[in-house]
Amino acid sequence: MSTVQKKICMIGDFSVGKTSLVSRFVKQTFSDKYLTTVGVKIDTKMVAINAEKNVKLILWDIAGNDGLTTTTTSYLRGAAGYLLVVDGTRRPTWNSALNLQQAVAAEIGEKPFIMLLNKADLINEWELDTALIEAQRAKGWTILMTSAKTGDHVEESFLHLAMAVL
Ligand code: GDP
Repeated sequence: MSTVQKKICMIGDFSVGKTSLVSRFVKQTFSDKYLTTVGVKIDTKMVAINAEKNVKLILWDIAGNDGLTTTTTSYLRGAAGYLLVVDGTRRPTWNSALNLQQAVAAEIGEKPFIMLLNKADLINEWELDTALIEAQRAKGWTILMTSAKTGDHVEESFLHLAMAVL
């Protein structure tokens, strides 16, 4: 059995659900650590890829509401991939995500990422139309609808990214 470690960053506007997605995914695991000095929370979770291979995901979640403005370089350094999180009930967070993705790619190059349209349980308040999403998918983006509240597609999203970064 071999284990590799991969650093994954949570990217997205304040309050889109980055922290909630990580805690939904790692719940029932034991590691949980706060690097308050650098404003980053780090969780880890072991994922079995197959009978011979594990991947230990080191999940970096930025604290506070500065998005990527101040800590970009140190936060992203060494990342194998990232989850780009949008709050589906707030259209501006979609535009932010597109900008953030460009900023991240400029910083660390083209790494695997998945866009998560979070808060899928709040479908009555949804502000993203299908055409918008499909146009982005047509550019080759993987986009999943998640709910940290119900757990919908959360595990699947992290596993998908784990496969992509291997
Ligand atoms: P972060 O700033 O991106 O880390 O966002 P948080 O994880 O702190 O979540 C911001 C707010 O959105 C909190 O009140 C969460 O309870 C709520 N939230 C996060 N994910 C979901 C979700 O999938 N559905 C609903 N209804 N609320 C969510």
